[in-house]
Amino acid sequence: MNQFMNIEDALNYMPVHVPPRSALFSLSPIGVGTPHQESILSLLVRTSRAHAVSPRHLVGEVLGAADPAISKITCTKFFSIDAGTVNGLGRYAELFVSAAERLTGHQNLSCLTLLPWQDLFPYNGQGLLARHPRWCPVCLYQQCLLGQATVFPLRWYIEVYRACSEHMCTLEDRCPYCGKTQPYIPRFPDVGICDNCRKPLAGTRPRTNIPRFQLWVNDAIGEMVLRQSEPDFAPSVDRFRDFVREQIQVIAAGNRAAFCRAIGFNDRGLNGLLIKGERPAATQFLAMCYSMQVMPTNIFAGESLSMNGKGLCLPPSKLKDRGACPRPSLQRRKELEDSLHARLNSEAGLSVKEIAADLGVSGSCLRYWFPDLCATLSKRHKVAAKVRSAIQQERQSRRVEDVVRIIHVEGRYPSQRQVDYVLRKEGMSLVQPPLMQAYLKALKEL
Ligand SMILES: [Zn+2]
Ligand SMILES: [Zn+2]
Repeated sequence: MNQFMNIEDALNYMPVHVPPRSALFSLSPIGVGTPHQESILSLLVRTSRAHAVSPRHLVGEVLGAADPAISKITCTKFFSIDAGTVNGLGRYAELFVSAAERLTGHQNLSCLTLLPWQDLFPYNGQGLLARHPRWCPVCLYQQCLLGQATVFPLRWYIEVYRACSEHMCTLEDRCPYCGKTQPYIPRFPDVGICDNCRKPLAGTRPRTNIPRFQLWVNDAIGEMVLRQSEPDFAPSVDRFRDFVREQIQVIAAGNRAAFCRAIGFNDRGLNGLLIKGERPAATQFLAMCYSMQVMPTNIFAGESLSMNGKGLCLPPSKLKDRGACPRPSLQRRKELEDSLHARLNSEAGLSVKEIAADLGVSGSCLRYWFPDLCATLSKRHKVAAKVRSAIQQERQSRRVEDVVRIIHVEGRYPSQRQVDYVLRKEGMSLVQPPLMQAYLKALKEL
């Protein structure tokens, strides 16, 4: 450097660091390090929106070109169902994280999946992820009101996270208009609208009672999602196994069978984990943590919890594990078949899931043993659901018109805000397009 150059000139000649360009927009994931942390599928859909292309195009053409292993797996079934595991802890999650990191220039996108838990849970992710995307309609409604992008947090995809603690309502997995479940990778770049009928999934719902156990599970999952982005947080099955052994010593004086009974397992219920080297399913893991009165994340926090010793408590209800479905006996199958035939002749139009719940079996069990009967029942249910939905829509539209007229008769102007205020108390909202149409129509007729 010229010794006569002043410091300002010297700064002007300093090389400027330009970060490397990325092939895709590098949108920041929402809520990292909080329980609301976004999922990688949600980030991919937002990225496709920023590029004004379909998420399926982005995955098939762009991520597929970046990694041939992705181009091999992209098909309709993958987009609809299998892509759910992209948020999980297996091979698909690794493939997508690696491709998305290369294309967006982001680092550590694995914390937008459950990959940080891959040393604890079974490799096949048994009981970990929900079958279909689920959402809290009120959270979506709030995002919409605040003008934010639609974001699906990672916890909504976790099977045992079944209700929103904030809005005290259960998560939904079917469009309120057409009753369809949603694909994991939609065709349209917005996860907040139905992929089938394009109507919003957002809405208001009355607050309900969520069991305390479910609220504990929600807190536990919130903590798990929050902590997993910390670089030194490394949950493992070895640590969990050591912790359980310590607890058996401290709480049950080494009597494993007594310990098992106290947490609602049979006497040998922990043999798989402690002797055979098996990994705990997410449901089993959370139920055990609840019984031992410990937050799951505290087990892996580094400090010793060996003297936890708070005692044990039974979970008030079972966290159902999808894997555990006993094979029905021949006689039971005959009974089930007769019941299904009887339902075919009934007018109720229940879904296979509802019928299964009535009969005390799982929907997949019925579909496995009686595929044709279930297909016919499903068709009937869809027709009945459509009719019910049309009737409800009609009823709600009439109500909107009534509200507009009542406010008008009272001598006030029926503004959107005024009408929405009344409707929200009844679980409706003008954010739903048919209700907005009814509102506009009623205004014209005043
Ligand atoms: Zn919510
Ligand atoms: Zn729909």
